[in-house]
Amino acid sequence: AYLSRIEQVDGNVRAFNSYDHDDALRQADASDTRRREERAMGPLDGIPVALKDVIAVKDQPLTASSKMLKDFVSPYDSHVTELLKRQGAVLFGRLNLDEFAMGSSTENSGFQRTCNPWDLERIPGGSSGGSAAAIAACEAPLTLGSDTGGSIRQPAALCGVVGMKPTYGLVSRYGLIAFASSLDQIGPFAQTVEDAAILLQGIVGHDRRDSTSIKMAVPDYRAALKTDKKWRLGVPKEYFGEGLDAEVRAAVEAAIKTYEGLGHEIVEVSLPTTDLAVPVYYILAPAEASSNLSRYDGIRYGHRSSNAADAIDVYYKSRAEGFGPEVKRRIILGSYVLSSGYYDAYYLKAQKARTIIRNDFNSAFEQCDALLTPTAPTAAFKAGEKTNDPLSMYLSDIFTINVNLAGLPGVSVPCGFTSTGLPIGLQIIGKAFEEAEMLAIAHAYE
Ligand code: GLN
Repeated sequence: AYLSRIEQVDGNVRAFNSYDHDDALRQADASDTRRREERAMGPLDGIPVALKDVIAVKDQPLTASSKMLKDFVSPYDSHVTELLKRQGAVLFGRLNLDEFAMGSSTENSGFQRTCNPWDLERIPGGSSGGSAAAIAACEAPLTLGSDTGGSIRQPAALCGVVGMKPTYGLVSRYGLIAFASSLDQIGPFAQTVEDAAILLQGIVGHDRRDSTSIKMAVPDYRAALKTDKKWRLGVPKEYFGEGLDAEVRAAVEAAIKTYEGLGHEIVEVSLPTTDLAVPVYYILAPAEASSNLSRYDGIRYGHRSSNAADAIDVYYKSRAEGFGPEVKRRIILGSYVLSSGYYDAYYLKAQKARTIIRNDFNSAFEQCDALLTPTAPTAAFKAGEKTNDPLSMYLSDIFTINVNLAGLPGVSVPCGFTSTGLPIGLQIIGKAFEEAEMLAIAHAYE
């Protein structure tokens, strides 16, 4: 059913970079056999899960939507892939993104522009735009994305679906193409919080191949959704200031009222470092990216220029031809802030600011169980509207970035529509490793 839906609509939506029709059916048949023989391997057995094209699946393309990796096929499985295979999920497609996950609109893809299913002239958000659009267009029941500064939550908001970023360290990054390693996390997209909880359950767990992967007893996320608990929910006043679209504000305020009506306590809190998000992130993330992307040298793998004169020229030309403009901008920015003489002034200072941002959240969480905010300052914008203005594009992540800098979990749930029928997202930010509670809070609203 999903394959025929893709054939029907993906010519317009363009969420998928590629998918293998026959292989998907083979996996589904194997699952049917298991079910007939009563050997099903849990709730994900036979369920199609499509992956952002930065998560490795052995023998499937792995492109990061970059010309650099256009013909690359993964020789191994990521940790989450291994887990999902073991649970019988049908891993069947590669979803479009901003090249190397750098962007907020999926317009930076080296291959194609994904369209927002609610209005094809608009962007689906990014960088996991394909993962969000595929859910919104019913091309897959579950997808995975990655979130470094908002790349799961912001496209989820703009496409009217649920998207969740786990606490840093909960999901292994082994086999995820690295963008900014201290911020990257893999997380689920779904139509409902319950579906997202089921997929989250399927991908968490300690992995010794990721040194930041945490060892902890994993709760039953789905069971935890059913609770009568009343929470104290914090509303950070800095998230409702200038730059927030009036209709987004109204929808989020209405959602907060709904919580109040359900008997939860609403308290105003303050996160004074909110405005540090963009400057701090755009020093740290490019710094890490410039280091991570140094591996694409035209020698080991990926695109190799065919008209290079010598070894040095192979590096220069392969990278010049393989990377798109936004990736180059980040590498240049990152190399600059890491270079001697500027390191202390920019990189080190940003690291210190990051600690202050984290402390800010800690203080806020002394007063409440979770935070309620808008996910993005506006609904989906028109394709092309911000492509010539990187700074205004960067600002679409002002409400999501600090969550990554603090390593916290966040989820975006649909909370209404603009007058022109575009979806709006409510962001719920939880305490570190308190995904069960955060999802229960999201589920209570839903
Ligand atoms: N939009 C942000 C960026 O361009 C975040 C991307 C992400 O979370 N991968 O870096």
